Amino acid sequence: MVTAPRVFRDVISQPEAVSELLRELAKSKEVHHAWLFTGPPGSGRSQIAFAFAAALVCPQGGCAECNACQMVRIGNHPDVQVLNTERVQISIEEVSEFIEKSEQMPALANYRIMIVEDADRMSERTSNLLLKSLEEPPKGTIWMLCAPSESDLLPTIRSRVRRIMLKVPSVDEVARLLIEKYSVPEHLALTAAAQAQSHVGMARRLATNAPARERRSKVLEAVLAIADLPSAISASEILLKLAESDGQQLTGELDEQERAELLARMGITEDSKLTPAMRSQIKKLEDAQKKRATRSKRDGLDRIFVDLMGLYRDVLAIQLGSGQKLINPDLENQIRALARDITQAQAIHAIEKIQQVRYRMDRNVKDSLLLDSLAVSLRRKRA
Ligand SMILES: [Zn+2]
Repeated sequence: MVTAPRVFRDVISQPEAVSELLRELAKSKEVHHAWLFTGPPGSGRSQIAFAFAAALVCPQGGCAECNACQMVRIGNHPDVQVLNTERVQISIEEVSEFIEKSEQMPALANYRIMIVEDADRMSERTSNLLLKSLEEPPKGTIWMLCAPSESDLLPTIRSRVRRIMLKVPSVDEVARLLIEKYSVPEHLALTAAAQAQSHVGMARRLATNAPARERRSKVLEAVLAIADLPSAISASEILLKLAESDGQQLTGELDEQERAELLARMGITEDSKLTPAMRSQIKKLEDAQKKRATRSKRDGLDRIFVDLMGLYRDVLAIQLGSGQKLINPDLENQIRALARDITQAQAIHAIEKIQQVRYRMDRNVKDSLLLDSLAVSLRRKRA
């Protein structure tokens, strides 16, 4: 097998997917013009799409070091366009604007890459608009769609794309990555990987960011403390605050890191004089960051729901005596107590309720009302 270009190093535990892309890159024929990357959140759908894009636009085939590769990584390469919406659904205007861009000639590279991050968030009408472009893009334009699963897309779209399916990496694989790449101590790496339920980005954050770990514990503590109505309402308030501060922290960390990378790449220091071109690059990054900030609370809430589902999955695992490894081994005693206090039916109901609230959160219902109703339904009372 050929060694993978360096840009693929961050794509962990997806050897089949990476090999398929490498075979495509090694072909003498033109690269196929439409791709679909599917996999659950955290499996690295966008990472692999970005790595593939970098391999296509980098003069060295994806060295991970050059300007082209770095621009792709921070989402700033003129020939790698990314559509990521802050809306629940990608609007038809967003898509038609994006399609227009796909018809332009590449500026620096031989390819023009069009990445749609949440391709599942398109209505039928919007999907149909995209269809024609997917079928016959101009020479050199390559589409890359990302979605949780194939069934999230219309069959007409599915039949026009080459599919790359990603698998969920195991807890051990994620832990190994944390140990090798970020020098995280083994015990912490294993706990973080389990708590993040193999979501690579989340696991890395928990393993390397103590305040993020603390906020996660507080979320679970607040829910474990729910007994009666007043404690449910107070838990709901705590969750909302934690979601806000977690979201803000996360975007703050990313903003700073991206800005530093951009400045370093342009060779800007404290006392540099900025050219108009530099200013416009910085402005572009700031705009993208502002857009992201608007969904930071939502992302914070989403992580809370995933953590809570994990908690009740642990409760259920104990009740069923399945011997399955716990997602929250550190809370085993409290989880055992909860498993005694509620019935299996209640644990299942809790998971369903969390899923339902998570879904409705996407429909713009008022956050605090939804959290209240969730917390109240999680009160411990034997049926
Ligand atoms: Zn490169």
